[in-house]
Amino acid sequence: MTADTTSSEPGARTLFDHDPTALAELLASWKEPAFRGRQVLEWAYRHGVTSYDEMTNLPKGLRAKLAADAPLYESTIVRQQEASDRTVKLLLGWPDGTRSECVLIPDGTRRTACISTQVGCPVGCVFCASGLDGLQRQLTSGQIVEQAMRVRGLCGEDDRLSNVVFMGLGEPLANYEATVRAVRTINEAWGVGIGARKITVSTVGLPKQMRMLADEGLQITLALSLHAPTDELRRQIIPWAERVEIESLVEAANYFFQRTGREVTLEYILLGGLNDAPEHARQLASVSKRMRSNVNVLLYNPVEGLPYRRPTDANAERFVAIVAERGVNSHVRRSRGLDIDAACGQLRRREARLRGEA
Ligand code: SF4
Repeated sequence: MTADTTSSEPGARTLFDHDPTALAELLASWKEPAFRGRQVLEWAYRHGVTSYDEMTNLPKGLRAKLAADAPLYESTIVRQQEASDRTVKLLLGWPDGTRSECVLIPDGTRRTACISTQVGCPVGCVFCASGLDGLQRQLTSGQIVEQAMRVRGLCGEDDRLSNVVFMGLGEPLANYEATVRAVRTINEAWGVGIGARKITVSTVGLPKQMRMLADEGLQITLALSLHAPTDELRRQIIPWAERVEIESLVEAANYFFQRTGREVTLEYILLGGLNDAPEHARQLASVSKRMRSNVNVLLYNPVEGLPYRRPTDANAERFVAIVAERGVNSHVRRSRGLDIDAACGQLRRREARLRGEA
């Protein structure tokens, strides 16, 4: 397995690609005073305006220059779906014709944005709609941040966006630079302003990049999609992880804990009849106990055209009970948005089919 750690989509850089230094440099090149940068960032992030015309204390000429050289939003909302549990899914269209998805998940007072890091996904987990089409391209850091801002725009005035999870389409650590830049912008007080501990990056497990992430000085949560407790079964479920052994993931997760003090969350998607036997639960507990981790069990959402099924509730409960009996902190995560195309990639695939592309 090789990981492309560069953002291969330079494209037009939007405002969301700029940190305060880059924006200051751009403004200085136009002989604009430094305070303009602070004004622009305040309008974009704190007030959430979607066009430079709304930045009323900026001269008109400057607004036009910024719109040309550092456009604000470059996506269009192609489709918006709301489930009965108030989960909202957005399908965004980018100027190059590609599309990606992001989701707002309300839960009590929590408002979580689930965002994508790539168009499509190279990993090809056998149970996943996104993996069926492979990777189309990397998203830029600005496009990743833009998704968080689009989802934030769905929150009502009294509902602040509280969490951001990098769990949409794609493997974040295979788009490493863009992902880390986006994490910083989402975290920074001048940016989206989400506390680091409320940001989760989910990976299928690239040991080298997990260690790099541990060294970034970020107090974020790392979620590791394990999905199987043995190398043999894991290779069946995640073919891309063919050359990654669980042992190397345990070592990388332990390094992450040493450097950040943050427990790793092991994600385990329960597939009926495949990885939900009591033996798997015992093996999972043993893997989990070799690192500082907790276990998050998800019940599979069936995907049209794929042969995998959802486990029964009884099997899922038994599975979690066995893991918990062994002293591992574990719980079942509720599926959200079942009445919309909520499994990752389903909305994008359906749209593509309608357009005759898949
Ligand atoms: S589950 Fe995640 S990592 Fe696996 S193919 Fe789907 S989007 Fe990629």
